[in-house]
Amino acid sequence: MEYTEIDKTNLKKLSTVALGTWAIGGSDWGGTDVKQSISTIHHALDLGINVIDTAPAYGRGESEKIVGEAIKNIPRDSFYIATKVGLDWSKGDGLVYRNNTKENILKEIEDSLERLQTDYIDIYQIHWPDPLTPIEETALTMKSLLDAGKIRAIGVSNFSVEQIETFKKFAPIHTVQPPYNIFEQDFKNELLPYAKNENMTALYYGSICRGLLSGRMTAGSKFNGDDLRNADPKFQPDRFPSYINAVEALGKWVKESYGKSIISLAIRWLIDQPISGIALWGARRPEQLDAIEGVGGWKLTEEDYKTIESIVNKYVKEPVGPEFMAPPARTL
Ligand code: NAP
Repeated sequence: MEYTEIDKTNLKKLSTVALGTWAIGGSDWGGTDVKQSISTIHHALDLGINVIDTAPAYGRGESEKIVGEAIKNIPRDSFYIATKVGLDWSKGDGLVYRNNTKENILKEIEDSLERLQTDYIDIYQIHWPDPLTPIEETALTMKSLLDAGKIRAIGVSNFSVEQIETFKKFAPIHTVQPPYNIFEQDFKNELLPYAKNENMTALYYGSICRGLLSGRMTAGSKFNGDDLRNADPKFQPDRFPSYINAVEALGKWVKESYGKSIISLAIRWLIDQPISGIALWGARRPEQLDAIEGVGGWKLTEEDYKTIESIVNKYVKEPVGPEFMAPPARTL
């Protein structure tokens, strides 16, 4: 396992692979199995992963509850919890709405601490920008939690550089969480160079592009119930085969070049980025993490990055990003 640290905090020696627990929450992923989820979290810790990323919105509290159950008897200083704030499902229509008001953050932190069975959160991240709340109000509230010791680092997810610059006038930002993987590089040119320059750590989400980069899918793969991949444009018949072809070609290249698998490549590709980063690997069954064995002990060169890009460009003629995931703003 390789490690990183978060600048201007006491968070040292964080594994560069974190467990992502959205699917463990069940909703948007066709359901969950609590026992299996807890085994997955324990297996992650056994493998040396010491960062667990969750959010209240995942399963509407269920993911945080499962994480809380899994970690309750484990020494608290042996792992880091990254959770989020600002998606509100109280309207009861099945959707989550952006809500970064002071009132909502101060309520949500108490709910998260209770579900997680802990008295502090290591990395507390604003899940999505909220156009209806002044960034100043959100930032000052986050700073008050940092000053009170309830959280140890402030993060923002899905924020633009401009929004980050405004936030930083009122509170520090230690981490950013954008979607980022071999197929989704929208944040390559602006956010990530900015974050590097500011010594922020990047927590990359969708590291294996919702399973696409696992190498286990075929163009005929089907997803159950409310699984978000049923709505994800990459997984629809007009684009899915081209992505599958790219995965096959990338898999062949990395096998021949390094004797590694495509899933190891997907994670290595993130860890070798020129910024302190952590790849969030979403898993809900213990064995899904076993491929972590292939992640360490090798490095991608600049030439490799170019080769990977040319393979993707050869097969994916109509690339599409993860924008379909963006939750709605509230209406006043
Ligand atoms: P991901 O990590 O790209 O993909 C996760 C899915 O890939 C798993 O649920 C699993 O799907 C499949 N998978 C994992 N390991 C596999 C293996 N060895 N073989 C075959 N399939 C495998 O996507 P993600 O979970 O969306 O992203 C990672 C984490 O980032 C999330 O869990 C969450 O913590 C965070 N995230 C944050 C945001 C945000 O707005 N901040 C948004 C999205 C995600 P199956 O179980 O169905 O096979």
